[in-house]
Amino acid sequence: MIGLTDPVSSVKGIGARKEAALGKLNIKTVDDLLRHYPRDYEDRRNKRKISELSDGVTAAVQGEIVSKRQGFRRGGKSQPLRLLVEDGTGALEVVFFNAAYLERRFSEGKTYVFFGSVTKNGGKLQMTHPEFSEAGSEDCAEILPVYPLTAGITQNDMRKWIKSLNEKIFLLKEYLPENSISRNRLCGVRHALENIHFPRDGQRLREAKYRLVFEELLLLQTGLLLIKNKNAAKGEGVQLTGGGNMEDFIGGLPYKLTEAQRRTLSEIARDMESPRAMNRLVQGDVGSGKTVVAAAAMYKTVRSGYQAVIMAPTEILAKQHFEEFQSLFRDHGVRVGFLSGSVKGNERKTLLAELEGGGFQILVGTHAVIRPDVAFQKLGLVVTDEQHRFGVNQRILLSQKGKSPDVLVMTATPIPRTLAFILYGDLDISLIDERPPGRRRVITKATDSGGREEAYAFLKQQLRNGNQAYVVAPRIEDSEESAELKSVSGLYRELTGKLSGFQVALLHGAMKQREKDEVMARFYAGEIDVLVATVLIEVGVDVPRATVMLIENAERFGLAQLHQLRGRVGRGSAQSFCLLITDGKSPEAKERAKIMASTDDGFVIAEKDLSLRGPGEFFGLRQHGVPQLKIADLVKHIKALSAVRKEAGLLLDDDALLSSEKNRPFMEKIRQMFKAVEMKAGL
Ligand code: ADP
Ligand code: MG
Repeated sequence: MIGLTDPVSSVKGIGARKEAALGKLNIKTVDDLLRHYPRDYEDRRNKRKISELSDGVTAAVQGEIVSKRQGFRRGGKSQPLRLLVEDGTGALEVVFFNAAYLERRFSEGKTYVFFGSVTKNGGKLQMTHPEFSEAGSEDCAEILPVYPLTAGITQNDMRKWIKSLNEKIFLLKEYLPENSISRNRLCGVRHALENIHFPRDGQRLREAKYRLVFEELLLLQTGLLLIKNKNAAKGEGVQLTGGGNMEDFIGGLPYKLTEAQRRTLSEIARDMESPRAMNRLVQGDVGSGKTVVAAAAMYKTVRSGYQAVIMAPTEILAKQHFEEFQSLFRDHGVRVGFLSGSVKGNERKTLLAELEGGGFQILVGTHAVIRPDVAFQKLGLVVTDEQHRFGVNQRILLSQKGKSPDVLVMTATPIPRTLAFILYGDLDISLIDERPPGRRRVITKATDSGGREEAYAFLKQQLRNGNQAYVVAPRIEDSEESAELKSVSGLYRELTGKLSGFQVALLHGAMKQREKDEVMARFYAGEIDVLVATVLIEVGVDVPRATVMLIENAERFGLAQLHQLRGRVGRGSAQSFCLLITDGKSPEAKERAKIMASTDDGFVIAEKDLSLRGPGEFFGLRQHGVPQLKIADLVKHIKALSAVRKEAGLLLDDDALLSSEKNRPFMEKIRQMFKAVEMKAGL
């Protein structure tokens, strides 16, 4: 008797070597094997007559073996095994090389089904190494699973092993709640598992698939909502009361907040004043003004007697926030500290001591702020900027620096709403769907290298008008192997010559932090006119006087990245431009350039990106800390997703923490799904 949690080695035929190979597919237990779903199926119901076969087709043929020439050894070499198969309409030769061991599997006079691709050689039909089974036999399924494989494991291995688990399937107890099954007309788990592997017909396969997709999404969605409910139930969040009026801060800003910013801030304020910890995602396109929203929330925190911290993914961005916060908070008597990997030694020691003693109310930094020795006196609010650049883990680590502090997460990667519910299922969402007034659409043009001179002439014109520009390229230095790729060093030399009279500067990741800081400071101050940079400047950088973003080898960048880069301009009231230079010939590269030229709406771009790249790559689910999906596809199954969301809501309305006895098996499954990711801590 083997159980689902037993190691795969308890399955007949799986020894140490096969076990190791299965490990590469992340298959460790019997249950993992059972959940190794086919990626496709071979439909052999449509058998073909031998007379209908032609060169190159893949087909199933049923026929009798009329002769068998045995593989024998001559001089140590094994001869191929040749079977002559007839079905009354013609003859087919089936050949197996180096397969003497197969010889005993075939008997003359018996009927077999062969499946494989056909070649026709001088009128002779042949199939080499087809799959086969004896007609009418138990393993002669009509629709056969095709599994993802890895070195050392064959399709036949996989089929045999999984088939042998058949009885295990019948021992499985249903774990989805009864109501979920009936409300959504799902089939039972046994039916589903049996038919996902060896479907008896198309209808059953569809039922099985739907059930398993639904199940996977339901486990994920319910798990995420549960984390949220549990956080809420703890009820021990920071509750800000009195004094924390954001209006004094907002009134001191040089501009009026947009409606969307105000709405978001009131959602944030409500969360902060409530006794439960805030867990809120602020989603807003590039340039929508997220920083000031974070600043206002931090102000409220400080006024209520707590400290706040903001973490940014790059040092450049962290520095920028630091400078901005210093000037925003100066008149309010709030002290702001800065911490990154380059703050070291005594400077760091003093800073940490002051932070712990309450000398700083606000800390701005990179992921250096989550280091174990960074401690706060009284941390009330944690902000992560550009969350898509961090893992969930880092967000959680940061919030553990306080006692259930409020958490604010900001991202410029706009994603379709239904997907946001999954990806950020443990968060409430605010949307800044409006840009500050007076912003003009960035004009985007794509050209091949033929248009480069013209592009530079245009850039020069913009500089003459007193504007600044970015020039971005994929490499730091030129390289012989990939001569087609522009480098920032090469461009820097070239442009220093071409743009005489203007200040050109270089910025890339291999430079010392102090040099980078200095270059950025001079660019902010307007002393530098053109910044030739790598994607280092992709996120967050805000220089309103920059009006040109010129991107070399644009084909090397993904849509989301191009959109982020373009977001570096158009941040002031002047007309801005994005020039894409690309000789990329691939259809995707062309499509990306076309999309960029046609819209600057981050949501539209995200949707296109999603459909061009598929969800796996788009989200990097793991990076988000969300469990990986085995069968569901967040794009393909978007319809099921809304049904799932509704169902998850109903389940939790009835049993908010899924603690009742009847939901125990379901809860168990949720835990199992989350066990590999950091979020499990919340369950
Ligand atoms: P992002 O959402 O991309 O992080 P930022 O917060 O960097 O955007 O804001 C972009 C620019 O817009 C900044 O220069 C900021 O000062 C400015 N800004 C923010 N809100 C407003 C507003 N309501 N009116 C005018 N300018 C604003
Ligand atoms: Mg920002």
